[in-house]
Amino acid sequence: MKKKRSVLLDQYIQLLKNGNVVAFPTETVYGLGADAWNPDAVKKVFETKGRPADNPLIVHISNTNEVEDFADTISEDARKLMEAFWPGPLTLIFRKKPEVLDIITAGLDTVALRWPKHPLSQDLIARAGPLVAPSANSSGKPSPTKPKHVKEDFGDDFPVIEAGTTDIGLESTVLDVTEIPYRIYRPGAVSAKEIEKVSGQKTKLATPSSKDTAARSPGTKYSHYSPEAKVQWLPKDASIDPSKELYLLHSRSAHPTGENIIHYKGDYSRMARELYDRFRQADHLGMTSVFVESFSDEQRKESIVQALQNRIDKAVG
Ligand code: AMP
Ligand code: MG
Repeated sequence: MKKKRSVLLDQYIQLLKNGNVVAFPTETVYGLGADAWNPDAVKKVFETKGRPADNPLIVHISNTNEVEDFADTISEDARKLMEAFWPGPLTLIFRKKPEVLDIITAGLDTVALRWPKHPLSQDLIARAGPLVAPSANSSGKPSPTKPKHVKEDFGDDFPVIEAGTTDIGLESTVLDVTEIPYRIYRPGAVSAKEIEKVSGQKTKLATPSSKDTAARSPGTKYSHYSPEAKVQWLPKDASIDPSKELYLLHSRSAHPTGENIIHYKGDYSRMARELYDRFRQADHLGMTSVFVESFSDEQRKESIVQALQNRIDKAVG
C-alpha cells in the first residue's frame, strides 16, 4: 500500500523539484506547497494565491531535526512542545537563521514552522520538502477542506493530491515562542491550556485588531475566510427566517427546520470540519447571508470553539 502511494506521489514530487506549486492534504486544510529553498517557486505561491507580499508563509517540515535548518535558537520549552504536538496542528515561530529566504518571512526576523500529521503530507515533505504551504485558496476565500475547493479557486487542471475531506477543517494554532509570555496569533486545535501544561510557559491570545499583532504576524490584519454571502452572528434570542439564508446552529433547542438550517448539536469538531465548505455552499446556492449562532463564554473555553470564534469573527469582518 505504502509503495503504491509513493509511486502515485512521484509525479507531484517531480513537479515540486522542478519549482512548481502543488496542492496537498494536511490534517488541517489543503496546503499550496512549493520548495522552501527555491525563491522562484515560493514566488509562484504568492502569485497563484494573489497573496500580499507582506504576509509570511509557514515552512512545513517532516522531522524535528529540520528545525535547525531554519530556526536560530530553540529553547528547551519549545522542544517540549515539538515533542508533544508534532506532527500535528501547531505552528511554532522562532528567530530565523539568516539563510531563510526573505520572501518566505516577509522580511521579519522570525520564521514559522510546522510538521503536519497527514500521512500523504509526510511522504511528500520527506521526499520533496521542506515546503512552504499556505492554505490552497485564492487570498480572501475560505480555506480548502476538499480537493474541489482548490479546483474552484485555481481551475480544474490544477495539480492537487486528492485525499477527501480534511480532518480538522481549520488552520493550525500559530504560537510565537520567541518571547515570554508566548503569544497565540491564531487559535486552532491545540489549546492554550495544553501549551501551558507542556511548556510550563504562560500564553497570551494576541488581540487581532492591535497594531503590534499586525506587525508581528501580518496575516492577522487581513480579512480572511469570507464567502460572498454576508456572515453574521446570530444573537441568542434572534428569530430564524430561512428564506435565502443559511443558518449554522450548535446549541439552540427551539428552532424551525429546513435544509438551510444546519444544527451541529454541540459537535464543534464537526462544525469546524464543515465550516468553510458551508461558506462555499452558501455562495453556490445564492444565499445572501450566513447566520452563525453565537457562542457563550462557557463554550469558548474549548479550543476548537475559540478557533471557530476567531475564523467566524474574521468572516464577519
Ligand atoms: P496561512 O498559511 O494562510 O494559513 O497563514 C499563515 C499564518 O501564519 C498567517 O497568519 C501569517 O501571518 C502567520 N505567520 C507566518 N509566518 C510568520 C512569522 N514568521 N511570524 C508571525 N506569523 C507568521
Ligand atoms: Mg490561509
